[in-house]
Amino acid sequence: MTTATLEAPKTTHTDYLALEAEFGARNYKPLDVVITRGEGVWVWDVAGRKYLDCLSAYSAVNQGHCHPRILQAMVEQAGRLTLTSRAFRNDQLGLFYEELCRLTNSHSVLPMNTGVEAVESALKVSRKWGYEVKGVPAGQAEIIVCADNFHGRTLSVVGFSTDPTSNTNFGPFTPGFRIVPFGDAQALESAIRPNTVAVLLEPIQGEAGVIIPPAGYLRAVREACTRNDVILILDEVQTGLGRTGRLLAEEHDGVEADLTLIGKALSGGFYPVSAVLSNKEVLGVLKPGEHGSTFGGNPLGCAVARMALKVLIEEGMIENAARQGERMMEGLRAVNSGAIKTVRGRGLMIAVELEPEAGGARRYCEALQARGILCKETHDHTIRIAPPLVITGAEADWAVEQFQAVLSG
Ligand SMILES: *Cc1c(COP(=O)(O)O)cnc(C)c1O
Repeated sequence: MTTATLEAPKTTHTDYLALEAEFGARNYKPLDVVITRGEGVWVWDVAGRKYLDCLSAYSAVNQGHCHPRILQAMVEQAGRLTLTSRAFRNDQLGLFYEELCRLTNSHSVLPMNTGVEAVESALKVSRKWGYEVKGVPAGQAEIIVCADNFHGRTLSVVGFSTDPTSNTNFGPFTPGFRIVPFGDAQALESAIRPNTVAVLLEPIQGEAGVIIPPAGYLRAVREACTRNDVILILDEVQTGLGRTGRLLAEEHDGVEADLTLIGKALSGGFYPVSAVLSNKEVLGVLKPGEHGSTFGGNPLGCAVARMALKVLIEEGMIENAARQGERMMEGLRAVNSGAIKTVRGRGLMIAVELEPEAGGARRYCEALQARGILCKETHDHTIRIAPPLVITGAEADWAVEQFQAVLSG
């Protein structure tokens, strides 16, 4: 017998694609790269090719792939205690609360798992606050959201999406939402009525294509909410935790939301952990038994999140995001290409919007893949660039060179 026959048949790149096609729901259209390993800003595919990750799992791996200190915290905690449910207490939850509140200057925290659960929780608690504190008549609460929003995939949340791909044939939906244009504070204030309990929006619309609202918008929205006794909920699941060069994107505008939603990078990509941060007594309306989650606040998630926050701060990742974001945007703006309509961004949340004639972003993403950069298009004409916040100047320059080669080629 030869050694070759003793070896198990090797699963190849094409085998993995075939397995997904045969057995998986087809609710994604990924690039055909099968990743098997990650470290910092880099990932490797099953054939051993190396790529710079410019998506960071939609900003869930801000701290870089497999950050060693988060890994160590996770492994240690996993060997000690993973889940108690909230029927009992655990020795990580209180510390997680305290550290997160001190860091974000919040009053209290509600722990959940996925981003959309944080969104749903904020909507629930805002309604309850509306009835019990603001005095809105039973069943009449209204919440204002923005066009082109992305807040996740549950029925209530897709029900107020304006993207037909997200909600066609998924109805009927939860009532009580009003949609206003993003970036127009006047339109938003005009939509506020006596039964309005909350406004929910993203400080920068990520999935819509890194849409930055006009200067002064967030501040005007904050003032409108305060004037009308309406809760401001900022969904920072994507913009939060350093992505834009500040801990929270709201800091760029000097505003504070009543409820701030974080998720994604809260665990550095190791584990689903999300949270509702409350700057006002809004979370105080919840009494025992009225809301919960089996995994929410579990010790494994808390230990991972505590270290994910610690490394974000201690290792200077937020400052680095601001610095490298400037550097990359400067480099991208200098690319001489008729295909580029505009380059915009804040920190390491960057978008290159292409001219409609350029033939769509997807083929550029495929060309970038061939040069060792993984990017994902948003909508048809925008390439999003959001590497882990640990990217070095040299890596940022190398990435810009690849963009230059692909876009001016
Ligand atoms: C990703 C995202 C969500 C949803 O998070 P999940 O963990 O996928 O449920 C909500 N809001 C924003 C702004 C997001 O980017």
